[in-house]
Amino acid sequence: MAELSPVDHDTYSDDYIKRILSETRIIAMVGASPNWSRPSNFAMKYLQAKGFRVIPVNPGVAGREILGETVVASLAEIAEPIDMVDIFRNSKDAGPIADEAIAIGAKVVWMQLGVRNEEAAARAEAAGLRVVMDRCPKIEFSRLYGELSWHGFNSNVISSKRRTVGKAEAPRRDGADTKAGSNTQRKHGLETLAIHAGNAPDPTTGARSTPIFQTTAYVFDDTDHAASLFNLQTFGNIYARLSNPTVSVLEEKIASLEGGRGTTCTASGHSAQMLALFALMQPGDRLVAATRLYGGSITQFGKTFKKFDWHCDFVDMDDFGAVRAAALDPKCKAIVAESLANPGGVVTDIAGLSEIAREAGVPLIIDNTMATPFLCRPFEHGADLIIHSTTKFLSGHGNAMGGAVVDSGRFDWFQNDKFPSLSQPEPAYHGLTFAETFGDLAFTTYGHAVALRDLGPTMAPLNAYLTITGIETLPLRMARHVENAQRVAEFLDSHPAVAWVSYAGLPANPYHDLAKRYLPGGAGSVFTFGVKGGYEAGKRCVEACELFSHLANIGDTRSLILHPASTTHRQLTEEQREAAGAGDDVIRLSIGIETAEDIMADLDQALG
Ligand SMILES: *Cc1c(COP(=O)(O)O)cnc(C)c1O
Repeated sequence: MAELSPVDHDTYSDDYIKRILSETRIIAMVGASPNWSRPSNFAMKYLQAKGFRVIPVNPGVAGREILGETVVASLAEIAEPIDMVDIFRNSKDAGPIADEAIAIGAKVVWMQLGVRNEEAAARAEAAGLRVVMDRCPKIEFSRLYGELSWHGFNSNVISSKRRTVGKAEAPRRDGADTKAGSNTQRKHGLETLAIHAGNAPDPTTGARSTPIFQTTAYVFDDTDHAASLFNLQTFGNIYARLSNPTVSVLEEKIASLEGGRGTTCTASGHSAQMLALFALMQPGDRLVAATRLYGGSITQFGKTFKKFDWHCDFVDMDDFGAVRAAALDPKCKAIVAESLANPGGVVTDIAGLSEIAREAGVPLIIDNTMATPFLCRPFEHGADLIIHSTTKFLSGHGNAMGGAVVDSGRFDWFQNDKFPSLSQPEPAYHGLTFAETFGDLAFTTYGHAVALRDLGPTMAPLNAYLTITGIETLPLRMARHVENAQRVAEFLDSHPAVAWVSYAGLPANPYHDLAKRYLPGGAGSVFTFGVKGGYEAGKRCVEACELFSHLANIGDTRSLILHPASTTHRQLTEEQREAAGAGDDVIRLSIGIETAEDIMADLDQALG
């Protein structure tokens, strides 16, 4: 059973995991617990429901029954041949167990989430066994076999085939699986992911476009199934405040585009911010946020969140000394900035901030609304969480509100005691510890099972559908948005009635070099400029436009124009407005995808 190439234990190919799961029938689970709220009990119950026979091994409770199976004291006591030994013990103890697994002729040694033992893995592989470390078979099974309600996790599966949900296919005997151990999985391009990620054909009807699941609740098979769902032992839908299959498709699509582990979608960008911070913050905690955030975010963080006893230090994100000083406050729980700030056209040095966040032991949250994953991939520069207002470029047509929180899955919630919601037993879930039970899916699971359940800012399935459809053309639209914006910015820059243009795509702009590094595809389509003649001239220009729509939004196919000082940034003090790049003479444009000459002609006549 030697592999063609050595297995990379940091990134298993789907083929490798699939082959193991499809060839396994009998699992010996070492460390199986009779306590239903322990992760081993969750996994055992789930695997039984998927047709695996699971034999519990645990000397402390030998002779008792767990989920209908008699517990044995050791692997050597099991009479029948074992396919897989699944290890729920610490990494050190995994060594002797792997040796026993070799001795009884098992085919696979599987170490659970958080369990890694390189020496034991090498011994098992030398003896011809396959090895998986730091994974949960329950999570891998549901990921690879298309569980309907995959709750916003990124399955990394792209397929236009209708699949039988929740059933392992028999292994192929025609040789097609022979590269199972190699890690040659294809990395799809962003255009392909925008169309295919998350939405395989509907398994029951074959519908190719994602159905709008317009339902409030979902039936249970029986009372035990209901209990398993409520206990989070089984992934599935209960009630639409927590999850909806249409919304799950959008969640997976956004997670895939950002290269994250999972996404929680919300009713709006603002509720995404609330939900992200809800998982991180306790009363009395602080966050560090950019002075040049979207105006609505400044009000939400600075004023409204005070009512939750959450406090915000607004800091100039170009001043790393100030960011560091604020982030090292023991009460600080997150750093928040926009990849490309609305409306100032400011580009954030994400990699620099991520180093400070790492030092402080807190996640770096990047609002990627204006850039979208087409222009900027914050996780590749060290961000831990990404938030979106999907209302803008992702839905893209000015017709659906929404928000998203994407988790990279890389932040270690156990590294300090700052994040009890994820690293401590959760009283709102029978004392379950999210980071222990769900590993790198913990944040996304918490987002649905606690935050959406108890705060309730759920995305409507119709809005999810519109956003899914919008994202299919995101790469095409963004390319045109950016091309038009660059031309309009250059046009305004040389226009006699214009005092200044703040667009990072212009070489003279102070953020031009950062833009080239973080936004190689272009500096977005939202920027500001100042009209000669100040406030009154600016107002006249906005009102004289015929093609541009005068409204408070960005990221529409249509070109949009706005005077921030009198609208979006109205609630801020004059000082905050200046700091946010929204002074009295400032006009904000969101350049659409109309014919560039028509956009410029409209501005030209309005400026005249
Ligand atoms: C619009 C916006 C938000 C808020 O999103 P809503 O969907 O309007 O709630 C947050 N951040 C940025 C950068 C935005 O543009």
